[in-house]
Formats: sequence, structure tokens, C-alpha cells
Amino acid sequence: MHSITLADGTPIPTLGQGTWRLGERGADRKAEATTLRLGLDLGLTLIDTAEMYGDGGSEEVVAEAIAGRRDEVFLVSKAYPQNASRTRLPEACERSLRRLKTDVLDLYLLHWRGNVPLQETAEAMEALKKQGKIRHWGVSNLDVADLRELGPYLNTCAANQVLYNLEARGVEFDLLAFCQNQMMPVMAYSPLGQGGALLRHPVLARVARRQGATPAQVALAWTLRNPNVVSIPKAADEKHLRENLGARMMVLTPEDLLELDSAFAPPSRKQSLEML
Ligand code: NDP
Repeated sequence: MHSITLADGTPIPTLGQGTWRLGERGADRKAEATTLRLGLDLGLTLIDTAEMYGDGGSEEVVAEAIAGRRDEVFLVSKAYPQNASRTRLPEACERSLRRLKTDVLDLYLLHWRGNVPLQETAEAMEALKKQGKIRHWGVSNLDVADLRELGPYLNTCAANQVLYNLEARGVEFDLLAFCQNQMMPVMAYSPLGQGGALLRHPVLARVARRQGATPAQVALAWTLRNPNVVSIPKAADEKHLRENLGARMMVLTPEDLLELDSAFAPPSRKQSLEML
């Protein structure tokens, strides 16, 4: 399995499984857990969830999927900004651990920035680390200026999860390089543009045909061309899951990359960070 390392040397897989929208309907839960488990069987051992998804339902589906095989998984969850204070973060973390039926998270992220000062959140994360409730902590949807505000905690922030796909390239202007310099992997969320118009784009289709691949595989391989990026597509459909695995081995040629640049222009100036 392809992996990169966090700053402390911990390896993490470069292709993972997203879980937004899982656990929203009771009737689908069993099938959702089965697909996640199949993903584990196929080597997609990084699972990304959040207390927000399905109002905790996604974490419960993940619990079902990882039952009996917790040690195989690099488990990521996220806290709401309103729960990211000194007093509330430990409670939110306990609730996530309970729903996930585990005693430790591999990576706990601040989902997006709210009113709690970032250094207070970082301090609360460090306390959870000391208590053994989490192994690493990180952030999501933070731009360079926000990361700098972490001050002395910047060096212990393990990862930044941001919107990154062919249609949303703003982070290439400075954030990707900033994170790479910090040895902080970037987790690309919605790498398939949520399965929408991106996957129907004619240029993506042309590159895919040339590669003998599908548009989704090219979109994923494109995020993974950067050695500091982890990509976390969500696939509830087994066929999608198997297809996405093919992106790990794909190498886009200079011609492919130029053609993609002509249809999806890289940023030429600083843009405010896009988020969903
Ligand atoms: P994605 O870009 O991963 O797209 C998911 C959609 O694409 C689903 O509808 C899925 O369908 C479809 N799909 C998956 N594989 C294929 C394929 N091979 N061919 C065609 N369609 C495909 O969107 P998400 O927004 O879900 O992002 C991924 C993950 O990132 C989330 O699930 C979540 O874990 C995380 N995230 C984090 C955010 C944050 O603020 N930190 C914000 C948004 C997402 P199906 O399910 O039917 O297979």
C-alpha cells in the first residue's frame, strides 16, 4: 500500500475512505459497513469520519466496519468548532470514541475554524494526546494565516484536511507548499468533486481514455501526484470502491497534466480558501 509519513514518522496510506453521508439512513447502515470493510480488505485502511456526519451515525457505521480489526485502521475523526474548547473537546472526543467503539483515535481534527481560539483547541488536543485518547491531532479547512496562528503548536499539528480537486485548486498557490515545508500531510477532501460535473468533464474523459482508465481514477491520481497529499474519496458503491483503487498505480504523463491544466487552470493569485 502506498503511504506517506507524518512528521513523527508514522506512516499513513495515501488513499483512504471518506464517510460523509454514511449512517444517515438506518436501512443503509449494514451495506455501508460492508463496503467499508471491503475497502479495508483491499488495503484502504485510512477511514475519515466526523461527529457531524449523520449526527454521529457515520461513526457508528465505521464502528461496525472496523469491529475486530481496529489495529489495521488509521482512524480519523473530527470535532465541531463549537466543541473545540478546553472543556468541551474532551467530552466530544469521549462521545466519538464511544460511537466508534474504540479507546483511541489515530488522528483527531478540528473540523473548521469557529470562535474558540486556535491555540486553546491545540492545547486541548495536546491534553488528549497525553491522556492517550488520540495519537495525533490536526485541523481542517485552515489556510496559511490560520495555521500560523497556531504559533508554538504548529509543529505538533499533524495534518490539514482541505477541499482539493481539479475544480478547486486554490490551495496550490501557497497552502500545499506551506504544509509540505512543515512536513504536514494535506488530506484532499471531495477529490471527486462529490461525484458531480467534474467526472463528466470532456477533458477529464479524454485523458482517462488515453490512460485506459475512468475519469474518477484520473481525478484521484491527479490529487495523488503531489507526494504530500492523501486523498479520501467516499464510495458507498462497491464498483466505485474497486475502481478507485486503480488510481494508486496510475502515473499521469506531462501531456495529461498539461491538458488538465488547460481545462482546470492552476491559481495565479491568492484566493480565499474554498470549503464545503
Ligand atoms: P467525493 O469527491 O469523495 O465524492 C463522493 C461521491 O462520488 C459519491 O457520490 C460517490 O458515489 C461518488 N463516487 C465515488 N467513486 C466514484 C467513481 N469511481 N465513479 C463515479 N462516482 C464515484 O466527495 P465527498 O464530499 O464525500 O468527500 C470525500 C470525503 O472527504 C468525505 O466523505 C469526508 O470523509 C471528507 N470531507 C471532509 C470535509 C471537511 O470539511 N473536512 C468536507 C467534505 C468531505 P457512491 O457513494 O454511490 O459510491
